[in-house]
Amino acid sequence: MIALALALSAAAALRYEVTASADARVLTVDAQIAAFPDRSGELSVNGGAEEFVRDVAMLSAKGALPLERRGDSWFAPGCAARGCAVRYSFALREAAAARNDDDVAALHGDVVESPPGSWLLRPMHATGNAKAELSVTMPEGLRFAAGLPRGPLTVDAIAELPYAAFGNLRVEKLDLDGVSVTVAIAKGPRRQTGEELLSWLRDSAALTASYFGRFPTAGALLLVLPAIGSEVHGRARGTFAASILLFLGTDLDNAQARASWELVHELVHLGFPSLRREHHWAEEGLATYVEPIARARAGELSAAKVWGDLVRGLPQGLPQPGDEGLDRTQTWGRTYWGGALFWLLADVQIRERTGNRRGLEHALRAVVSHGGSIAESWPLRRALEVGDRAVGTTVLQDLYAKLGMAPGDVDLQTLFRKLGVVMNGNSVEFDDRAPIANIRRAITGVQ
Ligand SMILES: [Zn+2]
Repeated sequence: MIALALALSAAAALRYEVTASADARVLTVDAQIAAFPDRSGELSVNGGAEEFVRDVAMLSAKGALPLERRGDSWFAPGCAARGCAVRYSFALREAAAARNDDDVAALHGDVVESPPGSWLLRPMHATGNAKAELSVTMPEGLRFAAGLPRGPLTVDAIAELPYAAFGNLRVEKLDLDGVSVTVAIAKGPRRQTGEELLSWLRDSAALTASYFGRFPTAGALLLVLPAIGSEVHGRARGTFAASILLFLGTDLDNAQARASWELVHELVHLGFPSLRREHHWAEEGLATYVEPIARARAGELSAAKVWGDLVRGLPQGLPQPGDEGLDRTQTWGRTYWGGALFWLLADVQIRERTGNRRGLEHALRAVVSHGGSIAESWPLRRALEVGDRAVGTTVLQDLYAKLGMAPGDVDLQTLFRKLGVVMNGNSVEFDDRAPIANIRRAITGVQ
């Protein structure tokens, strides 16, 4: 049974036909490799997965010629010169048990998660944008699911492709106004029914799409794996394609799942380009800031909850004595809440300068419509410029100069007073006569 097949053609520089064994314990891979410009003919897989690649042989009319592993690579100069067919196996379950690392291979219940770069042997030096093709054949009853690029797969992309999974999965396609998202759910007992779980995933994807104006990445995978008790946590991974791992406790009921924030946080990550390490605050701050707002606009959270959490959370993002700008001081508080403060200030200032006709979401929608999703790596400045241009301001670039590269100075009390957010003990009250109360109402979408 072919679970996934990108159209195979002779034109590709790399063609893989992957067949999983009966229990998905071992993958048998047939690779057609076109000639490539590296005289050593070095072939390998992602770091950490090499020892699970077994029995590599070059196939010819004369039979199979075994290739020896030297260090972390296999060398086939004849293949580089003329192209070749290579067959090997990958000990998928063994890799998952030994590595237990989602970036190499890991076992979650009965499902093996392993990004394609771990099990696709390929030229280490060369070939760039040349096309690659992949087909995966699974045994009866098991499925393969992966986050794959919207366009053709390229050789360069293989090393970076995000999470993929093999196992007893329920696989569904969500169609969000023409953008397709693959949902793969590990089968097994859980308190939430299958339909409750699926409609929560669909609603969460839809509210994310409505904030960004569209679902940010085509071809994304949302992989739901079992976790203990009521635990919920997730990870998003991009570059070339997008996958989210959502670890969802099997004891959670539907109301608890819908009250959790982690899924929408990860979904929001899909709506901004992947950045260099020093700008991690911009990615995490955005997910921290936008998640409750997108949920409030969909009626899943009250405005009081959103603003109360901002009043309580944001002081943790203010610079401490000795802190530098957000690019340089990478503590938890500065990364998540310092980043969230950057995006709140951006939202407020864009609205002040545009008579509340434009907000942060309009800047972010422009980034997404220019292709700036997690699947693309951008310089931060490019995202800020695109966003600023779309709303006709320089707010994002100015704020970056103020808070990204210097400690900055933000008077949170004055900001909340102007927005009409008043804490009365632990509860929030709104003052609609405050100078920019209309901006507060526009942000959470509750008029
Ligand atoms: Zn995050």
